[in-house]
Amino acid sequence: MTGLHPKRLLGKVVVVTGAARGQGAAEAEALTREGARVIATDVRPTGGCRRLDASSERDWAELAAELRESYGQVHGLVNNAGITWRARVGEVRPEDMARVHAVNVTGPLLGIQHLAPLMPAGSSIVNVGSSAALTAHYPVAYTTSKWALRGLSHTAALELGPRGIRVNTVHPGYIETEMTASAAPAFRAANIRETPLGRTGTVDEVAPLVVFLLSDESSFITGAEIPVDGGLTAHGGVKSVSDALREGAS
Ligand code: NAD
Repeated sequence: MTGLHPKRLLGKVVVVTGAARGQGAAEAEALTREGARVIATDVRPTGGCRRLDASSERDWAELAAELRESYGQVHGLVNNAGITWRARVGEVRPEDMARVHAVNVTGPLLGIQHLAPLMPAGSSIVNVGSSAALTAHYPVAYTTSKWALRGLSHTAALELGPRGIRVNTVHPGYIETEMTASAAPAFRAANIRETPLGRTGTVDEVAPLVVFLLSDESSFITGAEIPVDGGLTAHGGVKSVSDALREGAS
């Protein structure tokens, strides 16, 4: 117990991918605070992380065998690892498409394939999509991978539902991490212009949703997609119209 609130994930074993920094690190911390036994993993592991390349079938098979041995069961998986590649339609190469899809789509698929057999009823999987999964975001390898991840999430929710395993997707908008810091400043400014809340988000504004989706509080939610984007995707691209008329009227 912390204060008056019971820990919501006590006794649950949860795997997080891409947990060395950014959103994955924040999610691992938040899940641990709620009592989960978190296996934080990353292709570039730091102190608390175990090495796992999310796109490697062998890495997933090894992790699953270890978890079967150590815990017998796994109750949660956060497919958070992701990479971007900012080439446009005219310049993207097949190898870029393959590399990005291997991490962003095949990675979550492999995680589900290898860990779902260890999951009892009541378990929960969260896939980290993106506002790019809901829009025509220009980096086409990234955008198509995140759209594909939506399809995987829905199919997995359908397949695993009868076993009592839930699969949901969160769609972050512009969140301040090293991934977004590597983009041009104009990208950040344009995102803020398109975001009704008028600012970027933080990793600590995504992690609580992931905790909720892994907890029994969300026990009837599966196949859902939840944006955490300050309203970026809600207006369907017409914020500039509203802004122009508001400015014109004043
Ligand atoms: P980040 O680049 O800061 O962190 C990503 C982490 O994933 C890194 O630690 C990296 O080492 C790890 N990683 C990369 N390839 C991997 C692999 N093959 N196997 C295992 N780990 C791997 O990014 P972030 O902003 O924290 O992004 C986390 C997730 O959120 C990603 O799926 C990303 O696409 C998504 N997302 C981010 C934003 C944003 O604004 N930051 C917006 C929408 C969606």
